[in-house]
Amino acid sequence: MTTQVQHYIDGQFIDGNGKQQISVTNPANNQTIAMINAATVQEVETAIASAKSAFNSWKEVPVSERARVMFRYQHLLKEHHDELATILAQETGKTFDDAKGDVWRGIEVAEHACNIASLLMGETVENVARGIDTYSYSQPLGVCAGITPFNFPAMIPLWMFPLSIACGNTFILKPSEQDPMTPQRLVELFEEAGAPKGVLQLVHGDKTAVDVLLNHQDIKAISFVGSVGVAQYIYKTGTDNLKRVQAFAGAKNHCVVMPDANKQQVINNLVGASVGAAGQRCMALSVAIFVGAAKEWIPELKEAIAKVKPGLWDDKEAGYGPLISPAAKARVLSLIAQGKAEGASCLLDGSEFTVPGYESGNWVGPTVFSKVTTEMTIYKEEIFGPVLCCMESDTLEEAIEIVNASPYGNGTSIFTASGAAARKYQHEIEVGQVGINVPIPVPLPFFSFTGWKGSFYGDQHAYGKQAVRFYTETKTITARWFESQISDAEHTAPNMT
Ligand code: NAD
Repeated sequence: MTTQVQHYIDGQFIDGNGKQQISVTNPANNQTIAMINAATVQEVETAIASAKSAFNSWKEVPVSERARVMFRYQHLLKEHHDELATILAQETGKTFDDAKGDVWRGIEVAEHACNIASLLMGETVENVARGIDTYSYSQPLGVCAGITPFNFPAMIPLWMFPLSIACGNTFILKPSEQDPMTPQRLVELFEEAGAPKGVLQLVHGDKTAVDVLLNHQDIKAISFVGSVGVAQYIYKTGTDNLKRVQAFAGAKNHCVVMPDANKQQVINNLVGASVGAAGQRCMALSVAIFVGAAKEWIPELKEAIAKVKPGLWDDKEAGYGPLISPAAKARVLSLIAQGKAEGASCLLDGSEFTVPGYESGNWVGPTVFSKVTTEMTIYKEEIFGPVLCCMESDTLEEAIEIVNASPYGNGTSIFTASGAAARKYQHEIEVGQVGINVPIPVPLPFFSFTGWKGSFYGDQHAYGKQAVRFYTETKTITARWFESQISDAEHTAPNMT
């Protein structure tokens, strides 16, 4: 049975009048499970107008009441955790456990938004001049928009709208058209949590809807997560239109394995961090640099990765699911072929893998290359598939040079027993999120998600204090009060410059 995906515009769930139809498929067999009538320009504009009008009253709602909506929301998300994970697993192909993790990482951000009163606290200094005090407030911007990718359809929308709305903004979410049903359920639960009509709007579609958001003068800030080319387009167009933009982009995350590391821990961690979620994570470890004698571990690592069997979302034995689309599969297979053609040694080849009975699905088996060099396409391109590229270096310094020469800077890890090596790595590495004996160092929501270089365009990052700064404007007030009536002559402005 095919479901009709719904927009949520001006407090109503609607099918929409768009003539452009987008099908949502089950990646395990590519059968259509839902249809989207892509939002028309007029529908997106109606959502913006409604969000603008809702802002006038929402920004006046006391902060503790806004926090109470978030408390109810995080409670509902927890209550519906399994249901959300099931929807998510069906449309992404992720295993059920992985889907639960996706939802959970989002719940943690909604939970963080409950703390909004403390997060909004400003600064005060008494007596900046005699009898004069200065203090600051964080005020919301207006209508904000979020454009999200397919690979975390719960976590990434939840990085954005709970904190933005808790700050007093209204918000328009344009999720990935490849898995829109999880975001739709997130929005239904937000309405159930008691958010007033118009505070959150949901529009489905692709570039047409995005371009309306990018060009509309009533959108004050844009949060984007997705691929490099689109992130650059969003950042350039949004800032050209004088909006605040944060754009999280693609990645190529390296780990460095020192010979003094715990071999078993390295192997166990690398298996999940490289091919887990079919490698469709922006923090996946897709390159492993083995320093000195650590290269002897590559065959054992390959054996461990070979044991991972992809499968259906509800197969408890499955290590990961299919890729999101036939196009994604074709891209990964072409990169694997290029790796072989360019001289990398393919130790494990998942190109021919399939799941019996689901041959039409987007399956790619775990794949491991060794002898990869920085000139090869499989090194330079983000593969976004279950493919690990192994490289070798003689020293830690050489490994650091390789990582720092990469145009990306989302995440990296070092595995070592040496505090000195770890300290050197954390200090010298030009990457925004560093793990020390931790494979996927995604910070919890009281920090921020701090990708660098070509993995991020903007200033303030997602969630944590940086998101509150992104979604608010600082107002600084300098005040002087008089104890009694004073003469006009005394009403002179103090010179503080
Ligand atoms: P994508 O760039 O194809 O799509 C992301 C969003 O942009 C979707 O909502 C899509 O509808 C929209 N979009 C696509 N093409 C557009 C265009 N030409 N103009 C305007 N809007 C457009 O990304 P994806 O394939 O859904 O997601 C995977 C990518 O996201 C990977 O590159 C991954 O590394 C990246 N990602 C990065 C992070 C991070 O934090 N840095 C997190 C998750 C995913």
